[in-house]
Amino acid sequence: MNISQLLERNARKYPEQEALVGMGQRLKFGELDRWANNLAHALLKYGIGTGDKVILFMPNVPEFVAAYFAAQRIKAVIVPISAKLGEKEIEYIVEHSDAKALVAHDLLFDAVKELKTDMLKVKTGGAVSGWQSFEELANTESAERLSSDAQDDEPSTILYTSGTTGKPKGVLFSHRNVLTVAQMICVEMEMKPESRLLHMMPLSHSAPLHLFLVAGMIVGAKHVLVPTFTPDLLLDTVEKERTTHFFGAPVAYLMTGKHPEIAQRDLSSMKWWIYGSAPLSAGEVKFVQQAFRTDNLVCVYGLTEAGPSGTLMTGTEHAEKAGSIGKRAALHTEIRIVNPDGQDVAPGEVGEILLRGEGNMLGYYKNEEATKETFIGDWLKTGDLAKFDEDGFIWVVDRKKDLIISGGVNIYPKEIEEVLITHPEIHETAVIGVPHAEWGETVKAYFAASRELSADEIKAFAGKELASYKVPKLIEQVEALPRNASGKILKQPLREGSV
Ligand code: ATP
Repeated sequence: MNISQLLERNARKYPEQEALVGMGQRLKFGELDRWANNLAHALLKYGIGTGDKVILFMPNVPEFVAAYFAAQRIKAVIVPISAKLGEKEIEYIVEHSDAKALVAHDLLFDAVKELKTDMLKVKTGGAVSGWQSFEELANTESAERLSSDAQDDEPSTILYTSGTTGKPKGVLFSHRNVLTVAQMICVEMEMKPESRLLHMMPLSHSAPLHLFLVAGMIVGAKHVLVPTFTPDLLLDTVEKERTTHFFGAPVAYLMTGKHPEIAQRDLSSMKWWIYGSAPLSAGEVKFVQQAFRTDNLVCVYGLTEAGPSGTLMTGTEHAEKAGSIGKRAALHTEIRIVNPDGQDVAPGEVGEILLRGEGNMLGYYKNEEATKETFIGDWLKTGDLAKFDEDGFIWVVDRKKDLIISGGVNIYPKEIEEVLITHPEIHETAVIGVPHAEWGETVKAYFAASRELSADEIKAFAGKELASYKVPKLIEQVEALPRNASGKILKQPLREGSV
């Protein structure tokens, strides 16, 4: 089985069924297949073939999906990159990935128009000098239907990590890696041909791409594509398209939960509200469940390198264990928590999460050293510190790279952030370790709030809940914290002092 076969099969089975909705367009599986087939012919004509890398620089639009399946159809390797990247970052990825083609959306064209490269360049919204027109290629009819015979262990995708430490790394997946995690979510989230999946998180990230786009394609579900996220767009699209599944970062839920009209909006079509990529605390889970009037708020935990498959936490489990990432690994995945000697930890003891399963990446593209460092045998080191409780539920304590060691004592920033966020005026916060001559590191808190708050106020508030060594010594109020394209707070710019 390979990824291309999903669309090839849906086009045969459900040619008249709506496959994609987005940017004012509605495409049936037959029409999407025709676009993909025409584009696949065009790529071949320009010399792109097996194993060649094709970069997609597009927001969530129907053209993304057509180009994705076109490249899969000719056994090229797809490299979707974040719509938020700037010129220099794109140049790096073009070079590092050995890209042979770039397909860009008109809305993002400014960031790539000066790219000096002799690869094939395609853009939507009409041709300009040096660029082919997406519309022309997609609508130039080719009678011959192409079909991929890619084997399941062949490379299919490279996703570049955001490079919060050092240069971005290319996470390389086989067809089997991607299809395994997609099948997992199909089964776990009861996806069917009647399902309507709402895509607001960028398709250049592993969860939206594999757990939503590819998963939905397995069953022939409809995809509703929205290029940006706002609470209004989320509520409007749910009502208009009667969507059934949504995947969003916690911040999307927290923002929408505060929408003044949420209580009056019709969310009755929604069966699965899925969040992941960062935690929601117990208090936040309750807030979201109430605001969205749902008992099916589901948590997925994982990381790009694992497909992203890790654990799942059902709506029912949230009732008692909100804030945990669940008690079981997702389908086709195994989980362990180990101490630095590689021994499994006892309940209550903190260790690193390891994951094993067919969703785990093949490795980092052209970076054997980093690949070796990331695996112990076939177990993937997640870099996440966590513990089991007595009932077997797993609680992420923090990321290993965020751990603060002050005077030889471990301090988990997440614990401090969870206290600060309960302050009624604080709406976002991030805690980091900064160098300290005597203690090695000391605790610094950044926060954004609805009014000016003094450092003393913050310290007094934190001191009611936290031991004194955990109370932030340095405090800085900011307008907003830096976030990545999927809404996750980025700590590296804070460490570099560039905020
Ligand atoms: P980079 O590109 O810099 O590697 P990243 O590591 O944040 O960015 P992802 O692979 O998207 O990229 O993030 C995975 C990490 O996100 C996990 O290792 C974990 O720390 C965190 N995470 C994901 N899901 C959850 C969740 N449900 N609860 C808590 N943390 C989560």
